[in-house]
Amino acid sequence: MRIQWESAVCTKCLYSIRPLRQRNPSHGLPLLLPLVRSEDLLNQYVSLCDGFLFCGGEDITPLLFGEEPQNGNGKTDITVDLFQIRLMKRVLASRKPVLAICRGMQILNVSCGGTIWQDLSLIPQPTLNHTQQSASRGDVSHRIKIERCSKLKQFVGSCIYVNSFHHQSVKTPGRNVCVSARSPDGVIEAIELSGHPFALGVQWHPECMYRTSPEMRSLFHEFIAHSLINSKDSGHTISWNIIYKG
Ligand code: MN
Repeated sequence: MRIQWESAVCTKCLYSIRPLRQRNPSHGLPLLLPLVRSEDLLNQYVSLCDGFLFCGGEDITPLLFGEEPQNGNGKTDITVDLFQIRLMKRVLASRKPVLAICRGMQILNVSCGGTIWQDLSLIPQPTLNHTQQSASRGDVSHRIKIERCSKLKQFVGSCIYVNSFHHQSVKTPGRNVCVSARSPDGVIEAIELSGHPFALGVQWHPECMYRTSPEMRSLFHEFIAHSLINSKDSGHTISWNIIYKG
């Protein structure tokens, strides 16, 4: 089946995807990954799937990155946070591909020991409005500049326009986390793990732009292509871990 990115990523469920190797590598089969606590089940998720997509959602409980809650921090669910962080750590250890979107990017950073601005208003310098009010979520909102040596640049180029639906951002990058893009106000818009084959975090929502943006299609294509490289049984296993709309 062909993945419909918009519906796949904007779900209220947690799931993963098991794409199939076909002529077009953007084909795949979504798989749901229910919230579990068992170590054994988490490990089975990781071994079953070849790639993981962490989607957007609510805010991460600040205590999990060593901070007390500050004004501007939004809704949290520590049960979901802990599940996603535990799963992310296992996925990263497996070196399987990860594409982390919005909250997913923050889960990626916190899993590596990084911190989050609980609200963009807490950043000392003025910032752009990162919560666009456009008619369509696929509309572009602001520019980002992408680091020259980043993997992201290979996939989408050095300067693109993206949509923006976030009130938080990465504050301190975690271990081996490199900043790969920023908006004109200096807000971190993308990260990646150095030394990892494919672990990218993006603050915007490429799933809302893939129909109109060749760059976003390229990003998803690369994610699946990297996942297929490591698939064990004839390339029939990739999975993505997708949680909340946000
Ligand atoms: Mn933004």
